[in-house]
Amino acid sequence: MSERVDSVVVGAGVVGLAVARALALTGREVLVLESCSAIGTQTSSRNSEVIHAGMYYPSGSLKARLCVRGKALLYDYCAARGVSHRRCGKLIVATNPGQLEQLNTIRQRAIANGVTDLALLNRARALAIEPALQCVGALFSPSTGIIDSHGLMLALLGDLENAGGILALNSPLALAECAQGAIELVAADGTRLVAKTVVNAAGLQAPDLARRFAGLDARHVPQPYFAKGNYFTLTGRSPFSHLIYPMPDAAGLGVHLTLDLGGQARFGPDVQWVDTPDDTQVCAARGDAFYAEVRKYWPDLPNGALQPAYAGIRPKISGPGEPPRDFCIQGPQDHGVPGW
Ligand SMILES: Cc1cc2nc3c(=O)[nH]c(=O)nc-3n(C[C@H](O)[C@H](O)[C@H](O)COP(=O)(O)OP(=O)(O)OC[C@H]3O[C@@H](n4cnc5c(N)ncnc54)[C@H](O)[C@@H]3O)c2cc1C
Repeated sequence: MSERVDSVVVGAGVVGLAVARALALTGREVLVLESCSAIGTQTSSRNSEVIHAGMYYPSGSLKARLCVRGKALLYDYCAARGVSHRRCGKLIVATNPGQLEQLNTIRQRAIANGVTDLALLNRARALAIEPALQCVGALFSPSTGIIDSHGLMLALLGDLENAGGILALNSPLALAECAQGAIELVAADGTRLVAKTVVNAAGLQAPDLARRFAGLDARHVPQPYFAKGNYFTLTGRSPFSHLIYPMPDAAGLGVHLTLDLGGQARFGPDVQWVDTPDDTQVCAARGDAFYAEVRKYWPDLPNGALQPAYAGIRPKISGPGEPPRDFCIQGPQDHGVPGW
């Protein structure tokens, strides 16, 4: 006989844990299935740990709305739960006069998204904040910050477990199908479960898992694309105390400088399209391109100062050269399957 549970969340990354916590806090019985032996070992621990302000995205998009609201909720949550973070601020820099107009465009878009705290800085004011910078102007975002992403996930897990939720590690879900008003789940070891509600938060594997759900029309499953981002660490002390971003381009935010909570600087991520979600080795050969990109805003970057660090893969639903798509969050109203 299959075990019965009210809600199952597949994936214990930051999204799955946040969703599971929210469900458990409404009083529902929640089980989280995670294929790895620990929480948050995939994309949720292979990123820049930046609390973004929400200025780049098209206004009205889910990306813009959720980023702006999420930023405020996240700072409140960090304060309430003691999650380490720092509101260190960020500079987007124009390195030639042709880019100054773009700074203004980003500012206007930010205002449309409800981000009203940005300040345009001339060269002198930017250098007063960050003397090592090479730029002709900058846009300052005071509400951009950094966070201990693992501390955040541990806090979410703590809330989930305090509300009665259960995490099952080493428990990959293999298949799912509709069964008499509920959803039957089959784990890789053959264990069967029946749930009223199932949330697919499997990150890079989410579309692949959705394709293994008998009863979900394949038309609703987006094509996944994998955009690897390589990082290189700066050896020695960082000359910067804010996050430094070049002008964004069609592929992404550009090779930027972020800081961890210990003050260590790293550069990246770049964009390298790969074929599989497992390709997480840093591509050391891309280091030369990093020197060229970083020296546009920090000409004094010493030779040999960059060391390959780590890489993460962005789960994209638009491919190389295509315009970025908004987040895709589907429920029964979209695909017609109750509970999925
Ligand atoms: C290079 C890079 C930089 C980024 N920088 C930032 C940033 O600065 N700020 C920011 O807000 N965001 C950033 N992001 C985005 C952020 O990291 C992701 O949005 C977030 O981590 C996604 O979390 P997730 O829970 O969806 O996915 P994941 O963390 O990948 O979690 C999915 C989980 O599902 C599990 N799983 C998969 N298949 C199954 C299965 N069949 N059964 C059970 N479990 C399964 C996996 O093992 C994994 O633990 C960045 C991303 C990348 C790649």
